[in-house]
Amino acid sequence: MLVVMRMDAKEEEIQGAVRKIEAHGLKAHPIPGAQRTAIGITGNIGIVEPVLFESLPGVLEVIQVSHPYKLVSREFKPETTVVEVGGVRIGGHDLVVIAGPCSVESYEQTLRIAKAVKEGGAHLLRGGAYKPRTSPYSFQGLGLEGLEILARVREELGLPVVSEALDIDVLDQVAEFSDMVQIGARNMQNYTLLKRAGRCGRPVLLKRGMNATVTELLLAAEYILDQGNDQVVLCERGIRTFADHTRNTLDVSAIPAVQRISHLPIIADPSHAAGQRDKVVALSRSSVAVGADGLMVEVHDAPEEALSDGNQALSPGMFVDLMVEIRNLAPVLDRGVPSRVGS
Ligand code: PEP
Ligand code: MN
Repeated sequence: MLVVMRMDAKEEEIQGAVRKIEAHGLKAHPIPGAQRTAIGITGNIGIVEPVLFESLPGVLEVIQVSHPYKLVSREFKPETTVVEVGGVRIGGHDLVVIAGPCSVESYEQTLRIAKAVKEGGAHLLRGGAYKPRTSPYSFQGLGLEGLEILARVREELGLPVVSEALDIDVLDQVAEFSDMVQIGARNMQNYTLLKRAGRCGRPVLLKRGMNATVTELLLAAEYILDQGNDQVVLCERGIRTFADHTRNTLDVSAIPAVQRISHLPIIADPSHAAGQRDKVVALSRSSVAVGADGLMVEVHDAPEEALSDGNQALSPGMFVDLMVEIRNLAPVLDRGVPSRVGS
């Protein structure tokens, strides 16, 4: 961090800033310039808040030289983290595809869709048991029963499962029944939930908030890593923009932006970005092309009857086509798509 003094700052103001920096246990390095003095700060273990020095007499501005995040950064860990979910590795050479219904609606529905996505080549099964719905009158998910269904289907098909923990009350339950705990877009800045996710003993799929910057996403992940859990996969799922031709705007640029800064793997969810099934395949291609480590897509075998997000659900046939396209695209990008997992 650099504290830049005003051109007319007096020597005593510079010394005052130095004393204040040292009072925080930090080292101050005054750098006199032709026009003004800047004071470099070193020795900080954690984050130093710029506000500590901004309002001191004679200070013009405080410039953050290093990033506010630490554990998630490539400075801290240069090589990409591989997150292991029930034997499936996310963040390595191979692309990973997570597919399934938005919501677990019944055992039969989940089993049918799980069989279809497994047949198509999905590596992980998704399905919400606790659903974050905009309206309190919409289907809220089957709760514990939904998690039991997912666990049963996992046993039968051998596909590891991902499911969302909506709050701290259900987080341990979700962690007990699923192989990966999803923190949804609406909860990306629920810091109590993030801390608990950091202690849940399961890999975490952290979705980008619809209004969150890349920095905010990385800081949210930092909360999880700070609790000792580095098994975190980030997910770009579309952000709010003025565009009204899709539900959200898939910010594909976030993928290389995150990868430049962070060692955490990042996947894309084109379903929640598009909101309409006819755009999901094209957005999947673009996500893989920019370097995503995988995809999460919603699939339903009777989308018109789905209890949530039917509009964006791919039919099983469309999912098979998507997998064919991704398999064709992967080698061009020096990636692979492993064959089906499980029994
Ligand atoms: C979901 O994955 O079902 C979901 C609700 O996603 P998001 O949190 O991105 O809206
Ligand atoms: Mn959904």
